[in-house]
Amino acid sequence: MTAELATTPAESDCTTDILRERGQREVFCGLTGIVWLHRKIQDAFFLIVGSRTCAHLMQSAAGVMIFAEPRFATAVIEERDLAGMADANEELDRVASQVLARRPDIKTLFLVGSCPSEVIKLDLSRAAERLNKTHTDVRILNYSGSGIETTFTEGEDFCLESLVPELPQAPAEERSLMVVGSLADVVEDQFIRLFDAMGLGPVHFLPARNSETLPPVGEGTRYLLAQPFLGKTAQALEGRGAKRIAAPFPLGAKGTESWLRAAADAFGVSDERFEAAVSAPRARAIKALERYREALEGKRIFFFPDSQLEIPLARMLHHECGMELLEVGSPYIHRSHLDCELPQLPASTQLSEGQHVDSQLDRCRDAKPDLTVCGLGLANPLEAEGLSTKWAIELVFTPIQGFEQAGDLAELFARPLRRRDVLRVK
Ligand code: SF4
Repeated sequence: MTAELATTPAESDCTTDILRERGQREVFCGLTGIVWLHRKIQDAFFLIVGSRTCAHLMQSAAGVMIFAEPRFATAVIEERDLAGMADANEELDRVASQVLARRPDIKTLFLVGSCPSEVIKLDLSRAAERLNKTHTDVRILNYSGSGIETTFTEGEDFCLESLVPELPQAPAEERSLMVVGSLADVVEDQFIRLFDAMGLGPVHFLPARNSETLPPVGEGTRYLLAQPFLGKTAQALEGRGAKRIAAPFPLGAKGTESWLRAAADAFGVSDERFEAAVSAPRARAIKALERYREALEGKRIFFFPDSQLEIPLARMLHHECGMELLEVGSPYIHRSHLDCELPQLPASTQLSEGQHVDSQLDRCRDAKPDLTVCGLGLANPLEAEGLSTKWAIELVFTPIQGFEQAGDLAELFARPLRRRDVLRVK
């Protein structure tokens, strides 16, 4: 159980046969990312420029967190805006100024585009430029959360991409590590302790918890992706001179060890120091996973494309829990970011990219998996047909990365199987 995953690309039969589909898709839009981003960046406000539908989506996605001073809202585009009877730019400036006057604690305001704002071609980058001139003590940025041809985790990618030009320039000679991708604070703290124990630093995180402590970037920056859906952010960081450390993603005991090992190798950490830092938490993770082995081993799993986490999750479930992979669908397969993941999938796995939901539903029904990972819209109908399901979005909202979360991650997949067994007995 302590063997590492390869961190260099290799050939795998399953990558040569990717089924590419274009058709109707069943995914949330990028606005959903605000649910975890507003928790992470603690002095940011997300102003969605959208319709009542967008407002309803956010309210139901984040319903449990609506409290006195929320840090997101929707500037609703009314019919008179759509009909050109009102100047949408003037309205937007008025609403943004109102929010900033009410909330002096806000240091970054994100104007978040939506399908309606894109359809009426409201230029939010110009709006941000304009507002930055009048609100000089706040950083005003914009990105798109639209659901047109995108999937929900791209909201985070676009948000972080918009932050990259704002990052301070690091001195050319300064070598530092940047961990890229939102992680729950508890997970981030665990990684900080592990990097400290290895003597590896300085380490910065993007996004930072605070708008005023953005990580510096420059030629000496090596970055490590914590999430597999950050293609645009990675490109922007490389434009600023940063270089990616190839690694699998930190899911499960082996995935986390290999992810940390890739950083340790890039920074010349000795084997002894690495081992001393990771041996205890790795042993805890392996022990935690063992508890779920019986429940998951040999169970057949089918992934619908949703969060873009599907391939690293499938690798973890296969290698560390013994699950059999039927189909692993992902909205997009970023080959170079998955170069340490794809070769770990068994050759029998059907990989699919994009979606044609009807064809995929047919394949899923034919395969009769023990567990199906899919979006909320598909889960209930599939449950009604007798299939056990796991909501993909839960895997993004829950802290699952790192050694200490390995058992919790396995539990997320074991729970629906347990529930199915209990219902069957009754
Ligand atoms: S951004 Fe588009 S897909 Fe998302 S809630 Fe608004 S209208 Fe719907």
